[in-house]
Amino acid sequence: MRHVTSLLLLVLQAPAFPVQTGYAQGGAGQDTLLGFDAAGTAAQRALETDFDSRISTADLDNWLRILSREPHHVGSEAGRQVVDFVARRFREWGYNVEIAEYEVLFPSPRTRELELVAPEYFRASLTEDSLVEDPSTSRIDNLLPPYNAFSIDGEVEGELVFVNYGTPADYEILDRYGISVTGKIAISRYGGSWRGIKPKLAAEKGAVGTIIYSDPADDGYGAGDTYPDGPFKNESAVQRGSVMDMPTYPGDVLTPFVGATAEAPRLPREEAPTITEIPVLPISYRDALPLLQAMGGEVVPAEWRGGLPITYHLGPGPARVRMKLEFNWDMVTAYDVIARLEGAVYPEQWVIRGNHHDGWNHGAADPLSGLVALMGEAKAVAELAAAGSPPARTIVYTAWDSEEQGLIGSTEWVEEHLAELDEKAVAYINTDGNSRGFVNIGGSHVLEKLANQVMNDVTDPQTGVSVAERRRARIEVNGNAEARSELKSRADLRISPLGSGSDYTPFLQHLGVASLNIAFGGEGNDGSYHTLYDTYEHYTRFRDPGMVYGVALAQTAGRATLRLANAPRVPFEFTGLADNIASYVDEIEALAASMREETRQTNARIDSGVYALALDPTHSFGAPLKKAEVPFFNFAPLKNALVELQKAAGAYAEIDQSSAASEGQNILLYTSERELTRPDGLPGRPWFTHQIYAPGFYTGYGVKTLPGVREAIEERQFGIAESEIQTAAGVLRGMAERIRELSE
Ligand SMILES: [Zn+2]
Repeated sequence: MRHVTSLLLLVLQAPAFPVQTGYAQGGAGQDTLLGFDAAGTAAQRALETDFDSRISTADLDNWLRILSREPHHVGSEAGRQVVDFVARRFREWGYNVEIAEYEVLFPSPRTRELELVAPEYFRASLTEDSLVEDPSTSRIDNLLPPYNAFSIDGEVEGELVFVNYGTPADYEILDRYGISVTGKIAISRYGGSWRGIKPKLAAEKGAVGTIIYSDPADDGYGAGDTYPDGPFKNESAVQRGSVMDMPTYPGDVLTPFVGATAEAPRLPREEAPTITEIPVLPISYRDALPLLQAMGGEVVPAEWRGGLPITYHLGPGPARVRMKLEFNWDMVTAYDVIARLEGAVYPEQWVIRGNHHDGWNHGAADPLSGLVALMGEAKAVAELAAAGSPPARTIVYTAWDSEEQGLIGSTEWVEEHLAELDEKAVAYINTDGNSRGFVNIGGSHVLEKLANQVMNDVTDPQTGVSVAERRRARIEVNGNAEARSELKSRADLRISPLGSGSDYTPFLQHLGVASLNIAFGGEGNDGSYHTLYDTYEHYTRFRDPGMVYGVALAQTAGRATLRLANAPRVPFEFTGLADNIASYVDEIEALAASMREETRQTNARIDSGVYALALDPTHSFGAPLKKAEVPFFNFAPLKNALVELQKAAGAYAEIDQSSAASEGQNILLYTSERELTRPDGLPGRPWFTHQIYAPGFYTGYGVKTLPGVREAIEERQFGIAESEIQTAAGVLRGMAERIRELSE
């Protein structure tokens, strides 16, 4: 097996991957832009210089202050005012603006009660403190109190069990202690997985309720100074958030696959599969402390300890809690702002750029810091058009509603317009808030080259070098050996594959529209996410003082949008795609090999009885359970298809990328990402059609690449793995065929 792997690596390093020395390493102004000829490149760069000069920190700061004045969630009056403000600006700038409306199910809390009933009594406050230092935290008339949207109603009582992050690996540890959550209430830390996975897994294990709290070790005083002294969570802060089962399908829970228009057929609420099975409530570490302190049982493993000044115990009990949750299951209207600027050459080809507008609270960082960057771009693009330089393709600026409850506004719009978008959507560029530091671009690997050329041309506001150079420096200092050596051997920085967690999901993973998600971050890390403290005051003090990274975000996302809109040849590239997929195939093969070896060794140890001698007999931590041996899989179909893809990609890279493509070729280019989808979707979740990128069924936001194959192996459904290898191979062969068509 290992021998085959190294042969594959040789293939990867062979001339199928010519390093295109004209690209990426030359720095700003040196290289020809993908999809443009030399004269077109010069004109595009001149346009971008003009574009940059029209984006101002003052505009971004002003819009951020106005839009973050009040909490503005879906269905609220303040939310409607945000929609009107944004729509009015787009109209003033010359866009053709439409407000798309959807009728969606929106649970808001009616009753929230949490009490410790034994061994002593304590009632959780479930509220966040207003601070004199931050006036926004007193403007809370519309405030949604801390809750998890799409928790089911319920009143439950039970002993507490501490489940750490509540991941599958954590439950395996609990199994070894002989601790079950059946009939109990699981108390879990935020982190380690997307929050919706915690109640999903707890319910599968038989728990009757879940509490999720923010441990101070993760983003409170253990991480840094707390708000208002510093950016991290104070003792009252609570992370809100949706727990809808988004890895099954996102969007309105009652209308999977169809836009939630007034007339759409709807599931009865009781049959909606993405509402949780058990009640779930998020709390602060101030409210969690008395609950955890009252727990007994074994002391937790060292890695499970948090930052509270107590000894953490696993339970169950003697701490016993009662929790009562009731929600208003209202139908509300979600408003998406859709603003079009018609393309002068290809009006029927659309480059779509989006960010949501709804927030859990004031939403300064999430989502408004991204939305104001988008508005800055849109204003500049409209001014360029008015001055005689309209985009060649149509640009569609979108501001989505109800992202926070489960990507609802974007999903419903994509579902309603699926056929039209299938024909016209060239690419989707997403942002969802911002911070300062290092550029982070994730997305479709057909856009990796474009993303690199963009990063080379944007200047980092703190250091004055390109944002690509700054990112390279960080990898040089912090990266692992492999990443560091790749800086020298690979022309382009890799962009990360996308899981879920923002509005690119319906575009990329349902329809197969090539997508990017862009944000700066890494220096402004904090605990304000989805708390009362995500305010203008917090954002401008700790995340992006002066809004200079807001401007950098607008320059980055704006360049990607403008190049996709103007390039005479749609700027997709395939050798990077093939190279990244090859690395996923290698990873999965290595994963299967290591699982096989680990299972073999563990089973042998169980048979030999060695665990009884190795473990401390005064504790209940016992041997793992025996697992089915991992078979050898036949990866040959996948690898043969990959070779086909590599050859086709190499051949396309040989043709003149600066020559204009015909309209037909351009359509073949931008619809190529659809080749990576299958109409019947992934096993058990037909809504997710993309066969290369998906959110993990048990990680939530975290990406699984080649998800059909990878998850079948990880979840030990070995029979499915073989058929999924065939399926993935078929998709790669289809992509290779498409690329060959383009090279003819
Ligand atoms: Zn957001």
